[in-house]
Amino acid sequence: MKDLVFKNISVGYIPDTKVEINNKTYLIHNVIDGETISVDIEKKYPELKEVIVKSPYRIDYKVDECGGANFMHVTYDYEIKLKHDHINELFKPFKGKKDINIIPMENPYNYRNKSIMTYKLSKTKKIVCGLYEEYSHNVITANNNILQAEKTNKIINELNRILTKNKIQIYDERTRTGVLRHVYIRASFNTDDVMVTLVTNGEMFPGRNNVINDLKKANLGITTVVQNINTRDTSIVLGDKERILYGPGFISEKVSNYKFKISPKSFFQVNTKGMEILYNKALEKANITKNDIVIDAYCGVGTISIFASKYAKHVYGVELNKDAVNDAKINQKINNINNITFIADDATNYMTKLAKVREHIDVVIIDPPRDGSTKQFINAIKYLNAKKVIYISCNPDTLKRDLYLFSENDYIVKDLEAVDMFPRTLHSEMIAVIEKDNEIDELEELVKRENTKKYKENKMKYIPKADIEMMKNDKYEANGFKNKKKR
Ligand code: SAH
Repeated sequence: MKDLVFKNISVGYIPDTKVEINNKTYLIHNVIDGETISVDIEKKYPELKEVIVKSPYRIDYKVDECGGANFMHVTYDYEIKLKHDHINELFKPFKGKKDINIIPMENPYNYRNKSIMTYKLSKTKKIVCGLYEEYSHNVITANNNILQAEKTNKIINELNRILTKNKIQIYDERTRTGVLRHVYIRASFNTDDVMVTLVTNGEMFPGRNNVINDLKKANLGITTVVQNINTRDTSIVLGDKERILYGPGFISEKVSNYKFKISPKSFFQVNTKGMEILYNKALEKANITKNDIVIDAYCGVGTISIFASKYAKHVYGVELNKDAVNDAKINQKINNINNITFIADDATNYMTKLAKVREHIDVVIIDPPRDGSTKQFINAIKYLNAKKVIYISCNPDTLKRDLYLFSENDYIVKDLEAVDMFPRTLHSEMIAVIEKDNEIDELEELVKRENTKKYKENKMKYIPKADIEMMKNDKYEANGFKNKKKR
């Protein structure tokens, strides 16, 4: 027998199950809780052969259309339920008795405005493009990808033909030879602009003019083509040097009546529709007034600053990437806004400088990269005495870590909500509302003292205030207290 059957399997948030074969544990992908599956054990790594008893949440999908997706085999409603439960479990210490809501997308497909493709030669010497397989550098083919903008899919199909026709040499990362490393496409959703960036292994790009001419002839709606030169031995896609081959070298996008200029290297949220929902939600929670001085840290091309400027007295946007800061300044101008100052600096450095002179700041909005923020940044917020922090995060794990740091500084998590910015993938975006806690509670002090000992024995560096909150809740309940102190 080459197959083994596993009944009523157990699956957590990530759609994998662990199976034991000959005393070894293997992960089987793309399965759903409660299913009965057969596993092909002839393969080097055993894999799913057949779903014998299917979950009612299972849907059909085509493998080569699903690169980058993790939930393609479940209904979107079920994916939202999984994400909801996962987030509620993860943020248990901070959410109290509240339920953390997740806002779904109206259309969970074809939402990506940015696509990075990698190329390889097929056995018949045709150029095929694909995405990197998760955790590896194997290229998996991607046809009509369900996550990417529809116009991007059309361009990719046509580009494969044009690259093959012009015999463009594909870069081989093992030998570090060849020319074309990646194609990076950015498509606007609310304007007609589309940018194609061809990433090459050097300045030389034989066949360049033919490719441009064929792209123009194909009438794909491409408004600009840029060559980016990346000679480094790295998995980072873009190099520093750029050359505009066609059009203005950037695209414009419109979101909520604001116009944004986006250069190849600037960060822009990948889901345009989702971004609008996220920012409006975050600003509703920020409740900024006309007297408020606001910091937008990690501001990218200034999107949040621009959204916030309508409500605030003044906004300071700080961002490390100089290209993004230049775009942000232009974005301020083209939207006729004059109450924002953009600063090119490391966010922690900038905040520390402000904290040293005890600058007055009312609201801090932060939207850091996946690594989260820093302890020094969070400490600086304390010295600036900001009354409110809106933390937008694309990585719940680093958000959680940083929320503990806020708790140490007497900043309390008041509200958490998620926006499903990346449907069909494991990711989602979170908004945390954090406020300065000015009240000192007797019971809290007591619990703190009681638990300091316990935490010290466990060699924890600090007492997470959120844990105290949780223990307090338990204590209230144990003593029959009800809402002694409203938070
Ligand atoms: N708020 C923006 C960008 C968020 S992405 C938006 O929603 O569009 C995070 C941004 O942080 C990127 O633009 C990145 O260039 C920037 N960044 C990364 N490290 C930084 C640092 N140490 N200091 C300031 N900005 C940083």
